[in-house]
Amino acid sequence: MKKKLRLPLYVQILAGIFLGVLLGILSIEMGFETGIKNWIKPFGTIFMKLLKLIAMPLVLASLVVGVSSIRNIQKLSRIGGRTFIIYIFTTITAISVGLLIVNIIQPGQSLSVETRDTLRAKYAPDLDAKINQTQQFQESGPLKFLEDMVPDNIVAAASDTRMMLQVIFFALLLGVSLILIPENKSKPLIAFFNSLNEAILKMVDIIMLFAPIGVMALIAGVLVDIAGDDPSSVWQLLYSLLLYSITVVLGLLAMLIFFYPTLLWIFAKRFSPIRFFKAISPAQLMAFSTSSSAATLPVTIERAEQHLGVSKEVSGFVLPLGATMNMDGTSLYQAVAAVFIAQAYGIDLSFTQQITIILTATLASIGSAAVPGAGLVMLIIVLNSVGLDPAGIALVMAPDRLLDMLRTTVNVTSDCTVATIVASGEGQLKDISTNQSLKNEEV
Ligand code: ASP
Repeated sequence: MKKKLRLPLYVQILAGIFLGVLLGILSIEMGFETGIKNWIKPFGTIFMKLLKLIAMPLVLASLVVGVSSIRNIQKLSRIGGRTFIIYIFTTITAISVGLLIVNIIQPGQSLSVETRDTLRAKYAPDLDAKINQTQQFQESGPLKFLEDMVPDNIVAAASDTRMMLQVIFFALLLGVSLILIPENKSKPLIAFFNSLNEAILKMVDIIMLFAPIGVMALIAGVLVDIAGDDPSSVWQLLYSLLLYSITVVLGLLAMLIFFYPTLLWIFAKRFSPIRFFKAISPAQLMAFSTSSSAATLPVTIERAEQHLGVSKEVSGFVLPLGATMNMDGTSLYQAVAAVFIAQAYGIDLSFTQQITIILTATLASIGSAAVPGAGLVMLIIVLNSVGLDPAGIALVMAPDRLLDMLRTTVNVTSDCTVATIVASGEGQLKDISTNQSLKNEEV
């Protein structure tokens, strides 16, 4: 019998992205936007909903399994501590790279006063809603983020992807409690979550069969949305913001091409970066297509466990935390955007102000929900911290949807890098082909 040819997942997703771009551009040119909105975009929405549907139960199951399988509080604190330190380190590096590049290129200088005013007028209606969203956040005390992390109703928390941090809190507490009770009592619940975990990872495989179509529909929908009522505006606005976008993209590429491979080379020496990128490419492409680390999480976990060889114990703990808290791409983008806006207003940011950006962009990226556009909303907090007008976000709104795709790709790559490093340090990185541990002696 003839063997059925099956293209690798990343090729299928790439084909979906390509077709989506083609479809989007053709329909904008031919005035077929409504057709795309009515007949194509819904498939993207369905795909996104399917991914979000499994994200919450997966976070719960994988964290409970991850934490409880560590079975030792000391080891848990060690893995937790390392993960946290590496996450903060990668985020601060990302922001510094962003600041360096934006200070060299100075994209804000190129913005004319007219373009600035046009952009502000165009986005004025959206602006108020976004500023209101962060107002509550800023009016509350400094410990508000801690308050928000603790759920009072797990069912309510689990019903909203933006509250993933609360579900993480519950899962960590449950996992730790399962370690502390006698084994015969914890076993049935751990077995339940283990089985749930496996079943959901299978659901990922099933949903991914739909990925090329879902991705095509998402991309075509995004392009049509950006075009809005005035198709030529995409090109005009993208052109005037090209330099800014190039600055963000250069920073993100520097992270992808130099920083993560270097980290892997230092801390997981026997792990070739090429193999690493090959293994995670479907997760990167999903991040690019969905602009949501949360929606990508199921694919990220599946790739880390089954293609990178990261143990369940490490991936179940490190990846859900990373998807919500570790956003290098987002923080880099926030730093570049803040300086760009300052430059556009003709304001020179002092050294102290740039240090403030490092601090607030770190916090803002931790606080950003892993959903599309969250980074833009949290940018307002970074702007406020250095005394810039929050309405400045109007200047960077036009290319935001596209930059969101790229920064989410970096966010997910960073999570996978850290999971690999932590697994390597714990001797829990397997060579998938030989099933041998790849423990890095240097670590
Ligand atoms: N979309 C990003 C993510 O989910 C967050 C952001 O930067 O808007 O990772």
